[in-house]
This record gives sequence, C-alpha cells and structure tokens, in this order.
Amino acid sequence: MTEVTKTLCPYCGVGCGLEVSPPAQPGKATHRDSQGNPIWRVRGDKAHPSSQGMVCVKGATIAESLDKNRLHYPMVRDSLDQKFRRVSWDEAFDLITKRIQTVRFTQGPEAICMYGSGQFQTEDYYIAQKLLKGCLGSNNFDANSRLCMSSAVAGYIQSFGADGPPCCYEDLELTDCAFLIGTNTAECHPIIFNRLEKYHKRNRKVKMIVVDPRRTPTAEAADLHLAIRPGTDIDLLNGIAHLLMRWNYIDVGFIDDCTSNFPAYAEVIRHYSPEIVADRCGIDIKDLETAARYWGESQRVLSLWSMGVNQSSEGTAKVRTIINLHLMTGQIGKPGAGPFSLTGQPNAMGGREAGGLAHLLPGYRLVKNPQHRAEVEEVWGLKRGQISPHPGMTAWDMITGLEDGIVGLLWIAATNPAVSMPDLERTKAALMRSPFTIYQDAYYPTETASYAHVLLPAAQWSEKTGVMTNSERTVTLCPAFRRPPGEAKADWEIFAEVGRRLGFVGEFAFANSAEVFAEFVKLTRDRPCDMTGLSHEQLRFQGPTQWPHPDSGLEVNSQQSEIEISEEQFNNPKSKIQNPKSKRLYTNLRFHTPDGRARFGAYHSRGLAEPPDPDYPFVLTTGRLYGHWHTLTRTGRIEKTRQMHPEPFIEIHPRDAARLGISDNQLVEVRSRRSKTFFPAKITKAIAPGTVFVPMHWGALWADNAEANALTHPESCPDSLQPELKACAVQLIPVTAE
Ligand code: SF4
Repeated sequence: MTEVTKTLCPYCGVGCGLEVSPPAQPGKATHRDSQGNPIWRVRGDKAHPSSQGMVCVKGATIAESLDKNRLHYPMVRDSLDQKFRRVSWDEAFDLITKRIQTVRFTQGPEAICMYGSGQFQTEDYYIAQKLLKGCLGSNNFDANSRLCMSSAVAGYIQSFGADGPPCCYEDLELTDCAFLIGTNTAECHPIIFNRLEKYHKRNRKVKMIVVDPRRTPTAEAADLHLAIRPGTDIDLLNGIAHLLMRWNYIDVGFIDDCTSNFPAYAEVIRHYSPEIVADRCGIDIKDLETAARYWGESQRVLSLWSMGVNQSSEGTAKVRTIINLHLMTGQIGKPGAGPFSLTGQPNAMGGREAGGLAHLLPGYRLVKNPQHRAEVEEVWGLKRGQISPHPGMTAWDMITGLEDGIVGLLWIAATNPAVSMPDLERTKAALMRSPFTIYQDAYYPTETASYAHVLLPAAQWSEKTGVMTNSERTVTLCPAFRRPPGEAKADWEIFAEVGRRLGFVGEFAFANSAEVFAEFVKLTRDRPCDMTGLSHEQLRFQGPTQWPHPDSGLEVNSQQSEIEISEEQFNNPKSKIQNPKSKRLYTNLRFHTPDGRARFGAYHSRGLAEPPDPDYPFVLTTGRLYGHWHTLTRTGRIEKTRQMHPEPFIEIHPRDAARLGISDNQLVEVRSRRSKTFFPAKITKAIAPGTVFVPMHWGALWADNAEANALTHPESCPDSLQPELKACAVQLIPVTAE
C-alpha cells in the first residue's frame, strides 16, 4: 500500500494537517525509527489551511509512538493488590454491564461517573454523552478539558451568550498588535507561534506583547514582556483598561450599540490607576503605559491565551476581563482582531461541541436549560424529563465523590489523572478507594492503570475514523489507516456495545462512525456550532472545514472545493448563524445573548487562592515543554523527544538560589502544604525572583518524587470549576550530601 492518508496531528489544539504513508514504498528504503523498526512516514500537509505544511517535533515523530507499550486485550482483577488476568471482550462487557446495573439500582445513576478526554474523536464524545446523560440518566461525564479550558468556555458563554473562539489563524497574520497572556505559545502551540513570529518579523510596525511571569521563548520574541507577579492578571488588564479610558481610546459607538453592563465595568476600572497596578503587578509604570498605547493605537488587536489564564481560581473572570478590553475598543468581528483562546488538546473543541463536560449537552447546550434538554431528548428518542436537570460531577467532584463514598463506578478513558490532577496524594488515595474503576486507554502501563479493576484496550488515532475540531473551529476527518493492535476497539464502539447490552439496542445501532457523526450534527442545527452541512463524506471530499457550516441544501461532490451558498442563505434570519463562509464569528456584531449584545464583566482582582507567606514563601508555577506532551504516554517513549527533555527540573532565579545556597543542578526539596518532591535546580534569570517553575509532565512511572501536581491544590474557579493548577505556595530546601 502506497496511499497517502491526510489526517490531523493528535497532540495539541493547533490541529496541524498531516500526510501519513506506509513504512515500505516501492523504490524507497523502508522508513525506520532510531531502533531500526519500520514506522509510518509523517509529513506536514501543505493543503491543510491551519498549518500549511508545518509540523513541530511532536507531530513529526508521532509514528514512533504508535506501537510502543500498547494495551492489547481486556484484563480484569478483583482487587488492586491482585495481578490482571486476560479476559475476552464478552467477559469484560458482561462484567461492566452487570456492575453498571447493580450501581444503578442500588445507588442510583448519579453514582456512575465517566472521565474522558480531549484525545477522543467527536464520535467517541458523542456516544459517551448519549450513554451517560441520555440512557443512564447520569450527567457525570467530565473530561480532562475541565483542567484545560473550561474557564474559556464559561467566559465566552457569559460574555457572548455562547461558547466558541471567534477568531481564526489567518488573524495571526492580519493583526497590528498581538497580546499574548498566560500562553507560552512558542513551546505549547508551536505552529501558531511560527505563523505569528514570521509575520511579526516581516512587519516591524506590528507589536507583540507577552504577559508571563517567566521569560519564555514566547516572551523572548516580544516587543514588550510584562513579567507580572503570578495572580495579578486582572490587575494588569483592568489597569490597561483604565489607561485606554483615560486616553480616550475607547469605541463609544461599539459600546453603545453592541454591549451591555459597561457602567459597572467603568466603575471597577476607575480604581486601577497605573501606580496601583504597577505596584501590584511588580512591573514598571512605563511598561504598563506602553502596553496600553500599543493596544489603543492599533487598528486590529488580537489576544491569545491558554492555561496561564484558564487554570486559575478566577479563570472565568480573567477570560472575561480580556474580552472586556476587546469590547471597550471594538476589537472583535473583523480581520486580525478578537479574543482567541488556544485549546490544549487536539479535540477539546469537539468535546465542547458534543457536550463533553458535566454541565453541557451536545450542540453547545446547557444541562440546566429545559428547552435544551427537551431538544436533545427528542433527537435521542427519550421520554421527556429523562435527562437530569442537574449538572454532573466535574473532574475534581469525582475525586471528592470517591472520598465520600458516593461514586459506585468510575470509568476513565484516554486520560491519566494519576499525573494530571491537582493534589496527587489525595487524588491517588481517592482512586484507591474506588469500588470499581474501568480504565480504557491505548497505552499500558500508565500511572492510572495501577488503580483500575478493568483495563479495556482502546484503538487510538490512526486506527479509527472520526473527526476532530481545532482551536480555529476547523473540522478535519481523521481516517483509520492502520489496524488496531490485538483486540483494541474504538472508544465509541466500546461505549455503544455497553449501551446495547444494557438494553438500548436501537439507540446504539450504528454501523460505523460516519453514522454516529450524522446523528451528532443533527443536534447542531441552528446552534452556534451548526455543522449540519458536514458529513464524513463531505469532509473527505472538501477537506478541513470551519464551522458554522449549516446545511445549504446543495449537493456536494468531489469536484467542488466549497459548498456554494447564496446571499439569501448567508443572511438566513432563522438563527444567529453568521455567513457560513466566514472564518470569524460575530462579524455582524450581534451576539448570542437574549438582547444580542456582548456583556461586560465587572471584576476586581482576588489574586491567588494560595498566596505565598512566610512558611511557603515562593509561588510555584507549572507548565509544559516544547518536546513533551501531557503525561509522557507518547513522547516519553520517543527517542528524540525524550532526549530533548530527559528529566524534570525546577527553575530558580539566581538571587533566590544564592540566598538559599542552591547551586546549579543541586537537588532541591520542594514542599507545599500537600506534599514534597525533589528536583534538580536550573538556575536562570528566565524566572522572576520569588517564583519557581516546574514542568508538569513527569508521573510516578518516570521519576521518583518529581510529580509537579503532588504540590498543586484543587481550589477552583467558582464559574468554570477549573482548578488553579498554575500556582501554589512552596518552600525550597537544598539537599546536601550527608
Ligand atoms: Fe501537532 Fe500541535 Fe505540533 Fe501541530 S503544533 S504538529 S498539532 S503538536
């Protein structure tokens, strides 16, 4: 087979297009990894609109991970101190369905929980929602996206009336001012950064502002780096707003015609004078003024953010405070401008569309909204009232639910919470108490597998066909191009088989994932994420397509590059859907709120949930490295990426290191109120005094006592329920030889 498969990189939310071809091709030497094993060839897809042929080291080396440490067969054990034994799928399904029925009838459906992943394809997400929220009556489906971007979701909903990043990647190359806050884009979203950096270098008038307590590679490229104290983002944003107002850079027409609640916001920002803000943030007044001038004098301002904003106990307020700046200056709905959250995972966006968080239903619907529940019940053929009106347990609720003994069955799929959750000692102790845990994953061993009673082998990207949506709302079909190892199955097939065995035969009578997608898109009709014009077949012919993409009623064939849509269809008054050809949302300056206006959010800064104090005088911030992905299940097994970052470390400013007598590479004991860990010191001016940085990738499988999240705490944003994984208070103790 010499065929090239066009697909999407399964790592981050940039969503780069890939072309994959078999290891052996006529006339070419067999493609091999560093150990000499044949591996698939991977290169960037030049035709993919999001990445234009570029890939980073993770995408380029993905093929090396495909066959390593795979889980091949279902396995079970009665208790965590026993060894797993191999069973057939039939036995595994039988055990799972019996257990679900027992829990359902003894403890109630709300004792059943599933914790999924932004690594799912949309079809996996959708079937999981139908099984849990529809058929079983439990809204306890949450995903690791809760730890990643749920504050962005909450912020968009509260400001615009609906979720959805309004911008597109083309805006990176059309802006006059890129404002990056809480994002190390150069390392975590490298291809987005490539596009922005090239454009910035070509256009010297374009300004780049980076807000980050660390001098990251992203900050190195900026015209202005604001190294604010952790937790002072809202002070800074309100301070910029104060100056924009004082210097009359605001767009009064836009505020009057398109927004609400401006007076309350104006009253808040009145208190953020440059003197107060510079002092709280630990920056120079001149730098604050420069940032405000760059923003105010630019025709088009684009802001980008990710985990540094979202992973906060005031994450939603931070997101809304970024959006406020765009609203007060009319910087939205036009090329090169707008607030643009960057998603972490390859299909976290698809999860949002399919309702893959505990408070959501498919089609950007909310569990709490009776009309939304009724619409979903109708498509799913359920009785009215069958979907519970109560949002389910979030990721952290499931941990406390295990502690409280109210979780009877926990099903974890495609994620590794024994590394990625906050307060890991508490998380692991809770997992130990789980009466029955199913762990469904492609890889084995992982840290979380140690806490499972049942292991189910999942087919991963490359072995199943489905769609994924990237950060700019581009939907790409990812076809299977290789067979799953052993008896591994697609996640959606596993969920559907359990559904059928529970008696929901008609509900899960799907022959393939194309049929699943076809049912899912029905639930997007006339919704902000309308995809009724998409199907697997159309995506195969048309290639990657941005939503909204409503059904035009026109036939599409392989000769057409784009669906033809008339002016009349562009301006369909039935819904608030924008021009389907548009790359941007809100170009008509009407929003999804009841009055069509975007809402200002008026917030004072609350700061960190756990600020430093005399006992724990440093702020620990955590983050990601260029070559690694999440909890190392893939990149830890790839020679090149492992060599790039072989071990964890702690960054300490030279002044702090000198004061504590810590030398470069010396082992440092890092203590928080929850645990202690050990890291070799990396002494660098890249980190501000008083702050230290540790990468979050390493779990217990890879390094002893070096888990960043052993130190972090679970205090969460009250709106998004996203934990503050980005900051906690720690003390440092140099380890000396006896
Ligand atoms: Fe993959 Fe993200 Fe790298 Fe693109 S930037 S190749 S999506 S990891």
